[in-house]
Amino acid sequence: MRRTTNACLIRANSFGLKSTAEELIEVSSVEELMGSLAESPSATILGEGSNVVLHRHIRGRVIRVRIRGISLTRANGNVYRVRVGAGERWNDLVRCLLGRGIRGLENLSLIPGSVGAAPYQNIGAYGRELGPMVESVEVVDRFTMALRTLSAGECEFRYRDSVFKTDAPGRYVITHVNIVTGGQAIDSSYPDIDAELGRLGYDRPNPTHVANAVIRVRRRKLPDPRLIGNVGSFFRNPLLSMKDFEQLRGKIDVQGFEEGGLVKVSAARLIDEAGWKGFQDGAVAVWYRQPLVLINTGGATASDVLGLAERILDDVQRRYGVRLEQEPIELGRP
Ligand SMILES: Cc1cc2nc3c(=O)[nH]c(=O)nc-3n(C[C@H](O)[C@H](O)[C@H](O)COP(=O)(O)OP(=O)(O)OC[C@H]3O[C@@H](n4cnc5c(N)ncnc54)[C@H](O)[C@@H]3O)c2cc1C
Repeated sequence: MRRTTNACLIRANSFGLKSTAEELIEVSSVEELMGSLAESPSATILGEGSNVVLHRHIRGRVIRVRIRGISLTRANGNVYRVRVGAGERWNDLVRCLLGRGIRGLENLSLIPGSVGAAPYQNIGAYGRELGPMVESVEVVDRFTMALRTLSAGECEFRYRDSVFKTDAPGRYVITHVNIVTGGQAIDSSYPDIDAELGRLGYDRPNPTHVANAVIRVRRRKLPDPRLIGNVGSFFRNPLLSMKDFEQLRGKIDVQGFEEGGLVKVSAARLIDEAGWKGFQDGAVAVWYRQPLVLINTGGATASDVLGLAERILDDVQRRYGVRLEQEPIELGRP
């Protein structure tokens, strides 16, 4: 267990925002995590910091969960059960499974962050989400300070959402994620991926080919957080009722996709059409290749980022009557 006081978090968040934690503890086992939570039950939990907006000062204790380990058991045929520690890097897991010929996670290649945070917002990309592959999630329940295993149903996975994020935010600290994967068909139907596979000359792609195509598309579209601070998509795609979707279509020509009985609309299209792509305001800008992404051009703080985000949210709402939602989680107080 590592403990630092007045810890600088600028390198602990992919936005590169200036922030300090009164106390930072890194835990590498369930016992250390439980001990640390017992001393500080309301501690802030941080993974790799790739989906957070950190305020200047975070009071009290911040715990980084570094529990490692990937264990595999064959369920049947090509299907495997995989138990992964929350502190493993998501992309290391993807590579580990692909390297062993186990398919399923290829569309989720190169998503930054930890395995522990992946169920939090039910990570997804290029037509695939984590949720359907989760068998259960092992947690410390802060209400009872006991270990629990939540079934996939109890996790309530939805589009970029789950029980961890919305229904009981902060209640559960994830220690391990249990995944079942290997039996799925390849999904290369997402237009960008399909086109990239064509460019690469793969007409009968295998999972590694799909992963390569995903990596190439992501590298082209998204800024590398090691070079340009960002948290990926800053805004979620809105889910509208059919009536609201029809009203929106009266104002802008936009496609809709069915999602759990609602209509999902591209937030990027709305922001782009409103003219925000490439806009810069001081130390924050809208990425010129993908308007969902806000970037830190150097020295930005949480209030700079949230200020620009608010202007975009208000403008899109005024023009199209749709209130977009912010994807990253704010930690600390202004
Ligand atoms: C360039 C880029 C591209 C991205 N692309 C995608 C994408 O395609 N799809 C996608 O879904 N996301 C994407 N993201 C967002 C991000 O990678 C994911 O949300 C990732 O799962 C965050 O992991 P993290 O460890 O960095 O979490 P953090 O940012 O550290 O934390 C996020 C939230 O999870 C909570 N949390 C973290 N660990 C735990 C734990 N062990 N138990 C309980 N709660 C915890 C934190 O308290 C916080 O509220 C992208 C980000 C970047 C920078």
